[in-house]
Amino acid sequence: HLDAAADLEQVLYDVHREIQPLIGQGQLADYIPALSAVDPQQFGLALATTSGEVHGIGDYQLPFSIQSLSKVYAFALALAADGETIWERVGHEASTHPFNSLLQLEHDHGIPRNPFLNAGALVSVDRLMSRHGSAVQPLREFLRAESGNHNIDVEKSVAESERAHCDRNASLAHLMASYGNLDNPVPNVLDNYIEQCALTMSCHDLALAARFLVRGGVRADGTRLLSTDNAKRINATMLVCGMYDQAGAFAFRVGLPAKSGVGGGVLAVVPNRGVLCVWSPGLDRSGNSVAGVAALEAFSLATGWSVF
Ligand code: GLN
Repeated sequence: HLDAAADLEQVLYDVHREIQPLIGQGQLADYIPALSAVDPQQFGLALATTSGEVHGIGDYQLPFSIQSLSKVYAFALALAADGETIWERVGHEASTHPFNSLLQLEHDHGIPRNPFLNAGALVSVDRLMSRHGSAVQPLREFLRAESGNHNIDVEKSVAESERAHCDRNASLAHLMASYGNLDNPVPNVLDNYIEQCALTMSCHDLALAARFLVRGGVRADGTRLLSTDNAKRINATMLVCGMYDQAGAFAFRVGLPAKSGVGGGVLAVVPNRGVLCVWSPGLDRSGNSVAGVAALEAFSLATGWSVF
């Protein structure tokens, strides 16, 4: 009965009310100064169904900085272009280290543990640049096409802000380059990475644009981006790696493949049903939205929707 739109609207309303006390809790991502200037009291939650209906509550139509949510779409495009050989450059194993850690990268000879760590996302960017000369442009075109919103763009002030504070990501990129795991010049790879993180989108559009993950790799226009198997593999990688060192806790609390970003967004995939996107800027110590994770937990408990 939860497929009925009226019930879904009720669940969204109840979830919003339940997690209200958590909105504004946590910290803003102040290592990118532009992100610490946002109003922490914002919260939005949207569900885009497999067929493309959108249900939402709160600020679900307000654009925010997608940050690491970009890693899901960029990796999907890189996997679509490269096929299986991409797994020679990036793994699909969880990491117990923070998303921007250098520790494991040297131990693993410049092969990032998974595509959702910063190092792994730099690989996706590098692969897309080798194919298209740019990563952010094909990504932006894809996001526009899948969401139907042709205004999606890079927020230049956020990109500038990250560019001025990118020593750690530069270190990751140079370390990978030293192992021969980047083909393009480090400054160009970094620039594309920073710009893709600075794309600005709403929960509404992010959820719509991720529907290929619940459509067995099929895009909004009916063409195929990925094989069913590869779509499954991205979902599996999100489940294991998408919430960084909190992936286990998130699987326990919510039980859905998901990906977070330090702008406060979290994407979660509900197989056969749709994609959830939640946003609230306050982050926990792993860089995951406090109110966002709580809302996904409340939603999954109210609906019984999970992969388990
Ligand atoms: N642009 C951010 C960074 O590189 C993305 C991190 C994130 O969202 N987890 O640090």
